[in-house]
Amino acid sequence: MPVLLGAIADDFTGATDLCNTLVRRGMKSVQLIGTPAAAAAIPDAEALVVALKSRTIPAAEAVAQSLAALAWLKQAGARQILFKYCSTFDSTDAGNIGPVAEALLAALGADFTLYCPAFPEAGRTIFKGYLFVGDVLLSESGMRDHPLTPMRDPSLVRVLQRQCRGKVGLVPYRDVAQGAAAIEAAFARLRAAGVRHAIVDAIEDRDLEAIGSAAADFALITGGSGIALGLPENFRRRGLLGDASDAAALPAIDGPAAVLSGSCSTATQAQVAHMRERAPLFTIDPLAAARGHDVAREALAWAGPLFGDKPLLISATAPPEQVAAVQDKLGREQAGALVESIMAEIARGLVANGARRLVVAGGETAGAVVQALGVGALRIGRQIDPGVPWTVSLPRRPGEPALALALKSGNFGAPDFFLRAFDVLAEGAAR
Ligand code: ADP
Repeated sequence: MPVLLGAIADDFTGATDLCNTLVRRGMKSVQLIGTPAAAAAIPDAEALVVALKSRTIPAAEAVAQSLAALAWLKQAGARQILFKYCSTFDSTDAGNIGPVAEALLAALGADFTLYCPAFPEAGRTIFKGYLFVGDVLLSESGMRDHPLTPMRDPSLVRVLQRQCRGKVGLVPYRDVAQGAAAIEAAFARLRAAGVRHAIVDAIEDRDLEAIGSAAADFALITGGSGIALGLPENFRRRGLLGDASDAAALPAIDGPAAVLSGSCSTATQAQVAHMRERAPLFTIDPLAAARGHDVAREALAWAGPLFGDKPLLISATAPPEQVAAVQDKLGREQAGALVESIMAEIARGLVANGARRLVVAGGETAGAVVQALGVGALRIGRQIDPGVPWTVSLPRRPGEPALALALKSGNFGAPDFFLRAFDVLAEGAAR
């Protein structure tokens, strides 16, 4: 299967979100955790998405990592490159969106690209170059006080211009609303005027589809996961991609099942409350761990006799006042790192004891678990709830068991997500 699209995502859950969109539009997709070694086998997929952790590292490092990912994707055969960042354009005046995009353009020998973080389904829209989050400007949203990338200027043209050497321009909504041909004409006008970077307005999914269509010949496209809505159709029109009704097909995975919850977000709280009424629960006590208890071993010993087809729940999820008390005692980062390391050790122990199906709640927690399990690549399958698909790990060595993993960032999913996830997995295998 030829690789058609190669993507570079600046964080892990963003990469999954992108893969999920591509799969739903009929492209078989694999997420790679970091850039594979030069000699690594190329997974069988039409879209390969390299997940970096480059959103907030120094710009020069983000550029170097992104160029390495680009080189790997090109040798894997990718015909078009997508640089994926957050739908709230998370960045600072030092980068990293502008510097990475300029470096990718130079490496591809191209001189023009578009920027469209719009994601209407999640309330991110762009009008006159201004990014809205729900009903308010980006700078009036919670992103104003983000600890790492506070977004206080809602004009993406200005934000990006501060990060770029080349000139930044805008494709306004009056062009976007007229469809792909008008957008292409606007790109040509901007290019002729010396613009290298075009912010593109978008309010609805059909705008993103039209923008994708207008960018069919771009060497580099940049945006949020929404910009991927129109890309599979470009390949289909050229006869390179079939109807791919089986794009979400995963190999059937059986074996003991568990849910690991290390997220304290509101949605996860409700999900833990729902599952604890219906399944065995072990609660992680970070303060006991800090006092020297081997909590991971206790959890694994507890899980031993219960372990089977019915999922069990191991959770550190706690209400805000309890989390605050733990953080007061241990420090915020230390508490986080401690719980993540316990979760990672439990995941490793569960898999060593035969677990093959895991749901992990929490973005950082999922990152720690995937790293501890040594997972290098994930094939993306059916969506459980918006933004969260099932995935299956691609074994690195013959004989290594494949794992079914659903990695849920904090605020995603309905209250019954944890148990329903296993039904969705079973239904997919039954097809
Ligand atoms: P989310 O996606 O909801 O933000 P993350 O896993 O990214 O979830 O972040 C949650 C953080 O909170 C992790 O670092 C995790 O280890 C930490 N954590 C989880 N439970 C507790 C707890 N009971 N007390 C303190 N910190 C906790």
